[in-house]
Amino acid sequence: MDEVLVLGEEKDQALDPTTLELLGIGNKLANDLGGQVSVALLGDDISDLAEKAAAFGPARVYKIEHPLLKNFIPDLWLSALDQACRQINPKIFLMAHDHKGMELGPRLAYRLETKLTTDCIDLSIDPSTQLMLRTKPVSGGNAISVLKCAGDPQMATVRPKVFEAAQEVQPQAEVIDIALDLDESLVKVESIEVVKEDVVSLDKANVVISGGAGLGDEEGFEVLEDLANVLSKWFGNVMIGCSRVAVDKGWMSSDHQVGLTGSMISPDIYVAVGISGAIQHLVGMIHSKKIIAINTDRDCNMFKVADYGVVDDYEDVIPALIKKLEEAS
Ligand SMILES: Cc1cc2nc3c(=O)[nH]c(=O)nc-3n(C[C@H](O)[C@H](O)[C@H](O)COP(=O)(O)OP(=O)(O)OC[C@H]3O[C@@H](n4cnc5c(N)ncnc54)[C@H](O)[C@@H]3O)c2cc1C
Repeated sequence: MDEVLVLGEEKDQALDPTTLELLGIGNKLANDLGGQVSVALLGDDISDLAEKAAAFGPARVYKIEHPLLKNFIPDLWLSALDQACRQINPKIFLMAHDHKGMELGPRLAYRLETKLTTDCIDLSIDPSTQLMLRTKPVSGGNAISVLKCAGDPQMATVRPKVFEAAQEVQPQAEVIDIALDLDESLVKVESIEVVKEDVVSLDKANVVISGGAGLGDEEGFEVLEDLANVLSKWFGNVMIGCSRVAVDKGWMSSDHQVGLTGSMISPDIYVAVGISGAIQHLVGMIHSKKIIAINTDRDCNMFKVADYGVVDDYEDVIPALIKKLEEAS
């Protein structure tokens, strides 16, 4: 039976949300193939994680367990995945398009003598060939390509926050240990301490309010902060994003930038304030569930993708909106 394998990742002793998204799309592909989805977990002492993964509906959870896999050392993880893929022989293998997927994906594809498509935003099965159709933005986000290539396994890295996450079900997964032969001499770095990143993680926000050149100056972002404070009473995690122009002008740091050369996000609500909607910006937020635009130019591109729009000066609109929200709370 055709098997769709996804690489599971751990975060704060739980499954990383991207793993649930991989299981979601993996399950859909498996259904179209008449096969099953499975998850591979790497690490040391990962029985608890395997149990958590089993709750999200895979047919099998492969434990690729070894003391040397405790920390992410790419050469070792690559060797382990190479061995696991040869034993499992999946039809499709999916990874998140994050630092692990980007490091391991191309090297693993080379070892397995197959082809990888990175940063996919849609995946489906071609009914006539049973090959995976891989959709990804190309030409700096100006075009979308759909690629089909032979190769075994069919491999892709998948952009986070694009696919629906798998839901919890009655666990029925078989847990299988993968035997490994790891070469200790591959350890060329020592992990001393895992340091938490002190950067803005826009992809964790439920609501992102972004400002662009239309704010006029740095102070414009204080108005957005006021709106964020009020909205956080309803929506929890509300963060401030921006366009590249706002970064170039020195109004915001680059970790707030949304777009092709910034963060790719899909929050529940995206509010674009004084942002024209250049393609390089749109590609980073187009998958937001609801888009609200505030702009003085009714013909700007952002209104073409927005669910709701206000044609007016943000300096009038946002204080009025804050007042209404405060009255309602
Ligand atoms: C290789 C490459 C990569 C890039 N990567 C990115 C990226 O990752 N992210 C990104 O954002 N850009 C990126 N860019 C830049 C992108 O092409 C645009 O230049 C940029 O997104 C425009 O930013 P903006 O919308 O803030 O500014 P503008 O295009 O100048 O738009 C300002 C908008 O504000 C409106 N406005 C003016 N005054 C007000 C007011 N008082 N109230 C309300 N609205 C008002 C205007 O009508 C206008 O629509 C990239 C470009 C290149 C070439």
